[in-house]
Amino acid sequence: MQLDIQHLFTDQLPADPILENTRRQVSGACYSYVTPQSLTNPSLIHASDPMAKTIGLSVDDINSQTFLETFSGSKLPTGWRPYAMCYGGHQFGNWAGQLGDGRAINLGQVTHNQQTWTLQLKGAGATPYSRTADGKAVLRSSIREYLCSEAMHSLGVPTTRALSLMLTGDKVMRDMLYDGNPALEQGAVVCRVAESFIRFGNFEIFAARQDQTTLKALVDYTIKQHFAHLGTPSRETYIALLQEVSDRTLEMVIHWQRIGFVHGVMNTDNLSILGLTIDYGPYGWLEGYDYDWTPNTTDRQHKRYRYGNQPNIALWNLAKLANAIYPLINEAAPLEAILNSFKDQYEVKALQMMQSKLGLSYQPSKLDSDKALINELKVLLHATETDMTIFFRSLSHFDLTQPEKGLEVIKDAFYTPGELDMTLSQQWNDWLVDYSQRLQQESQSPEARSTQMNQVNPKYVLRNYMAQLAIDDADKGDYGLIDELYTLLQHPYSEQPTSEQWYAKRPEWARNKVGCSMLSCSS
Ligand code: AMP
Ligand code: MG
Repeated sequence: MQLDIQHLFTDQLPADPILENTRRQVSGACYSYVTPQSLTNPSLIHASDPMAKTIGLSVDDINSQTFLETFSGSKLPTGWRPYAMCYGGHQFGNWAGQLGDGRAINLGQVTHNQQTWTLQLKGAGATPYSRTADGKAVLRSSIREYLCSEAMHSLGVPTTRALSLMLTGDKVMRDMLYDGNPALEQGAVVCRVAESFIRFGNFEIFAARQDQTTLKALVDYTIKQHFAHLGTPSRETYIALLQEVSDRTLEMVIHWQRIGFVHGVMNTDNLSILGLTIDYGPYGWLEGYDYDWTPNTTDRQHKRYRYGNQPNIALWNLAKLANAIYPLINEAAPLEAILNSFKDQYEVKALQMMQSKLGLSYQPSKLDSDKALINELKVLLHATETDMTIFFRSLSHFDLTQPEKGLEVIKDAFYTPGELDMTLSQQWNDWLVDYSQRLQQESQSPEARSTQMNQVNPKYVLRNYMAQLAIDDADKGDYGLIDELYTLLQHPYSEQPTSEQWYAKRPEWARNKVGCSMLSCSS
């Protein structure tokens, strides 16, 4: 295996001069050099062939000893200079001070086919930013990150990727439910890949410390390296940067809403400057369509990060980013204008997204009536527990000439069909009639509409219980299901007749099971 590692981030930005790996506040530096923990017996569970290929590695490379050593962090090739980044963040609405890569170690950058990627190990040991924790990751959360980030990529959602999933061979102590019952779990390492892992919090930390020099160095680096099309760093490009980060973040959240993905911990340290979905922790997928749902038990009380609140939180986080770069601009108006336009833009894009889910094309004269149609649908989807994925996927079979048969087409999406009393059935029938009338004003053929809808409404997503089944098997040493789900989710929009069992509502046993609908931040 041959990878030419580059040190773009570390060559251009100030380093922590202290090389000792002790937990501490690090000032005036964007990162600290660290060495991943050495391991006695790492083993490869799974690797993403397409990701490997994207960075220039072959199947033979994946099976090599060097791959195992490098991407478990056990032994790095000579000349590599791994580092952990310094960042801060607002957690659940409060400034939390220095956080940083507490259990992530960046290996450096690689360039292949004119694209530059940063490689990062998650769970490869402590860093100066580990605070009171151990810098390690357990198998269950690593499986969740590995499968979900690759699935999100195939779903067309901007995301960090995953190259490999390894067992470290060591055990890690975790109190999974924070209820005083710690237990040993298997340790694991995921090699994540992204153009960059810079987060909003990377900028916030220097603003909070009034360290304008390092702040400017990082903003300028970000523009030169990742937003070069904005031009030479200047006051104007700083403003343009916020605009583009705002646009990308909005785009990302629209995708989440489209497929029913709930991130679970949208703290500012978990928001990527590139608008990538990052840090797969207690995330979850909507099963019943429910704006109030969050998988994160740590957030059970206030539900700050619930499905329906993700767009608002994205904006809240962008406001924190605007505050962070403000010292370089010294004028609030242009930043406020960007933030103020977010809500309007969200309204427009969210409507377009919902129209596409329903197979409706953009028609200026129908905007208001489409909005009303969609709002009525949302009320109905909330009225009784309705599986989001199955509902929208089924709708592509709706025959506009027979609205009275529509309920039959969507009935599989209802968790308790018995709850559909006379009134509710009538409301559904009325809606289906309105929907069929609206579809009659479309020029598209039913076949073309169905094809288009199936490109935005996935057939397969990583339902919470599916990941848990893969975890349960993996705990027993059986990794077959990881591979099966990985392969299935490479083509989430395609019909896969031999995998119909994964196109099904969440089974009842999973309704309140830990790991399925309830997840903690413990990972
Ligand atoms: P998260 O909630 O996963 O976004 O993590 C918030 C902060 O805690 C980040 O700075 C992480 O690096 C750090 N962190 C989370 N888990 C661990 C761990 N096991 N060891 C060290 N740091 C951790
Ligand atoms: Mg994080």
